[in-house]
Amino acid sequence: MEADQSTDFLIIGAGFSGLVTAERLSAAGWKCVVVDRRHHLGGNAYDRTDAAGVLIHQYGPHYFRSNSRRIVDYLSAFTGWHQVSYTIRSHARGRYWNFPINLNTFEQFIGRESTTAGFEDWLEKNRIPISEPANSEEVIISQVGRELYELFFEGYTLKQWKRHPRELDASVCGRIPIRTNRDDRYLSETFQALPERGYTALFENLLEASPGVELHLGVDAGEARARWKHKHLVYTGAVDEFYDRRFGPLPYRSLRFEAESFSGPQLLEREKISGKPGFWQPAMQVNYPDAEVPFTRIVEIKHATGQDIAASTIIREFPKDWTPDEEPFYPVPAPESRAAYQRYAELAAAEKSVSFIGRLATYRYYNMDQVTGMAIAVAERLIARYGTNL
Ligand code: FAD
Ligand code: UDP
Repeated sequence: MEADQSTDFLIIGAGFSGLVTAERLSAAGWKCVVVDRRHHLGGNAYDRTDAAGVLIHQYGPHYFRSNSRRIVDYLSAFTGWHQVSYTIRSHARGRYWNFPINLNTFEQFIGRESTTAGFEDWLEKNRIPISEPANSEEVIISQVGRELYELFFEGYTLKQWKRHPRELDASVCGRIPIRTNRDDRYLSETFQALPERGYTALFENLLEASPGVELHLGVDAGEARARWKHKHLVYTGAVDEFYDRRFGPLPYRSLRFEAESFSGPQLLEREKISGKPGFWQPAMQVNYPDAEVPFTRIVEIKHATGQDIAASTIIREFPKDWTPDEEPFYPVPAPESRAAYQRYAELAAAEKSVSFIGRLATYRYYNMDQVTGMAIAVAERLIARYGTNL
């Protein structure tokens, strides 16, 4: 196909990476075309109202958190925030536990009251001293010992990644905090909040503020590159796909989501378990580490969004192998997949007029604030190189 249209920057992918880059370049006066082969914007952060009227996160729960004031300030131009103290539970061996591991969990584990000092003494006796944990098993056993590791981490990780925690970078399980006080927040970042009206609304506001950006949904990278002449390409899809997987596919892990909505007497019945009128389970997320349960977690996002509605939707997550006909979700943080990525990274680094941004294009287990920061930084470099067009 002859390129019959033109733009300054062609951006593949309408998730955080692509849209933030587009907004920054548009603010510098450049025209951008953003395409996505999905039929909605937002990438994996996309949210929508389901048939029961509940605001859901379509591709798994997206808990916004950040330690960067600059990133929060940037996004605050497009959204207000609904402050959330994200709390979750684990369900193992037939009961609910406070999680991440903290003093409350310890008391549940030993079946009596304790103190921070009591828990610290117990940890001192049970943790396995490893000065530099090299993998996800070591990072947990070096903090809490084998028993708690086996109870909460081993089975969950095996299901989620289909590999042993020993074969995963320490950063995978290491991102879960472990505390000896009663702080049982899931995350530790200083800013924890959801976009007030959701991620999709945030992205719509971003586009409204960016007159230089055109969005085309249902359009693949190949078609877009043939259709729009451009001075520079920004690519936020999978890096191995960009190179037609010439060194073989990189490993990814995927998920199948199963949603179920409740209202009326059915929801009323569940209140005995959730302990909260209008809710199905006691927390926004319950993890299921036991091997005999086929899913890893059940998310009831209404706990976090604060939506006031007499219905609720839960979503079960079943980990699965990734197949090339679907969107990859998780890059696999492990030594051999990083080595495989390295070959693609070398090709990418040699490109003069293509920038690779985001979780898939740089094959990193990044959170939303991190890809936002990366997109802002890359846009700044592009503006330094091409100047502004104001
Ligand atoms: P994506 O959101 O993946 O967007 C890339 C887009 O590019 C996609 O829409 C895709 O359709 C499109 N695309 C790819 N290839 C092509 C092509 N060839 N042609 C056209 N379009 C293409 N982060 C958090 O901060 N907190 C969380 O709680 C959190 N939970 C998560 C839970 C799950 C289950 C997953 C999978 C991720 C989670 N994340 C979370 C990470 C978060 O999703 C990412 O950091 C963020 O969405 C990455 O944005 P991105 O734009 O780089 O990629
Ligand atoms: N994990 C675990 N048990 C849990 C929660 C997490 O073993 O109850 C491990 C698992 O390997 C998971 C990783 O810690 O992939 C990171 O967990 P997180 O909840 O951050 O996963 P994400 O939301 O990124 O899927």
